[in-house]
Amino acid sequence: MRCWYMGLINQQVTNFVKIRSYPHCFMNTHELWQATLGELELKLSKAHFTTWFRNTFIVDYENHQVVVGVPNTFTKAWLEKKYHKDILNALQNITEQPLKGLGYQVETRPVEPKAIVFESEKQAAIAPEPQQAYEVAESLGFTTADQASGGTKPSSLNKNYTFNSFVVGKQNELAYAAAQAVAAHPGGIYNPVFVYGDVGLGKTHLLQAVGHHIKKQNPNANVLYASCEHFTNDFIQAVRSGRAKEFKDRYRTVDLLLIDDIQFITGKEGTQEEFFHTFNALHQENKQIVISSDRPPKAIAALEKRLLSRLEWGMLVDIGAPDLETRIAILQIKCQKRGIELTRDILHYVASNISSNVRELEGALNKIVAYHQFKNLDATLETVTPIVDGFDLNTIKKTVSPKHIIQTVAEYFDIDISDVLGKSREKRLAFPRQIIMFLLREEMSISYPSIGQELGGRDHTTAMHAYTKIQRVLKEDDQLKRDLDLIKQKMYSG
Ligand code: ADP
Ligand code: MG
Repeated sequence: MRCWYMGLINQQVTNFVKIRSYPHCFMNTHELWQATLGELELKLSKAHFTTWFRNTFIVDYENHQVVVGVPNTFTKAWLEKKYHKDILNALQNITEQPLKGLGYQVETRPVEPKAIVFESEKQAAIAPEPQQAYEVAESLGFTTADQASGGTKPSSLNKNYTFNSFVVGKQNELAYAAAQAVAAHPGGIYNPVFVYGDVGLGKTHLLQAVGHHIKKQNPNANVLYASCEHFTNDFIQAVRSGRAKEFKDRYRTVDLLLIDDIQFITGKEGTQEEFFHTFNALHQENKQIVISSDRPPKAIAALEKRLLSRLEWGMLVDIGAPDLETRIAILQIKCQKRGIELTRDILHYVASNISSNVRELEGALNKIVAYHQFKNLDATLETVTPIVDGFDLNTIKKTVSPKHIIQTVAEYFDIDISDVLGKSREKRLAFPRQIIMFLLREEMSISYPSIGQELGGRDHTTAMHAYTKIQRVLKEDDQLKRDLDLIKQKMYSG
């Protein structure tokens, strides 16, 4: 390794660090970062490098932990998500020291270069390698390690979906009470509990809150959360691979079974039959079952009669759209969780204008937060209004075109635009391609045939399939949700 900071030896030596293999070399945080940037510049395209590493610096290096200062939370999220490993490797290459931690912090003021003090070689050698960025500051919430995964694995519960974070209003109080009752006395008189209501009104949240509560009371309780789709796929795969018994053992021995969106069982006879037996087995053992659906049992088409009667056995509760006060309270709780403050005026404006569904309310809040953090602005009613009104009054929406969406997604996944538009069905291309089609539909309301055209002359059915697939996966996969959040922020930031 070259020793480009030799000249610094003559400066205040005590302020600089001794590098392990180069005892004659000293370094401070500023030089270390310059050297790191030098390595990164070689690896990344010029556009990426300048976009993401401009105005970054090392805030602190202590105890084998590095904190990198970044100009805004958007950059922070991007570095964590996309360049964490590269930065980590570059830092370790240069210092020839393993790092225990690498985090990012929004810091707009320059920080004085600081001497880096390495501990003894021995200590350094046993420092574990951080695989993930660690948190150094409050962030948008899409960072680090094993954040809740919403349910791609059957028993994984989203850690945010608890009773504590559920706001109770007139339209959901019965469902909330039922959920609390079975959480307190599982397998009692309310079995099953069947919660139904439109999309985005908190059904999944409530189901999982029951799971959390029971797990908290009894960490050994066997709680299984599965979307109906997961249950179906699991069952089909088990049968195909001769593991039907394993499947039965898994589903019929739980203490609490949470089945989300059961309406998707419509027309699936084999799955209905299996679910019927699962239900009976659990019910007989007084094990609690909680089910959600977007409609009441009777309205689920092609549902076997005997299963219908089971679903109606226990407690049927519906959830309606929250009223204004509840919507404001929901926004308040979401803001609190993220450490953001918005004035009552703003909350009122958002809640008054987005009334149908809590998911949309959260979506609006995400957009508001992302926009203001990216622009480093304080939110006021004037800046929030155009965002709530649909982005179209201001500059934001105008920057989005099909080309821009394709470019942003390709950049996010590090793939070439020509490959995305090309014929290859490789998975690394197929998935981003589906995301592009989803965004073209969702963000620009483009027709399916036109989406096919934009994507290199594909059939409209491919676009339709992509849209429904991503929509479905999004329901279960928080990681994809975070990916899309980042992509959208990038899209709208121009
Ligand atoms: P559904 O399953 O009915 O489609 P979700 O449970 O996924 O809806 O809710 C969508 C989003 O809205 C989630 O982030 C959830 O936390 C939030 N949400 C819904 N209702 C409430 C509520 N009453 N209090 C707090 N958050 C809520
Ligand atoms: Mg749901």
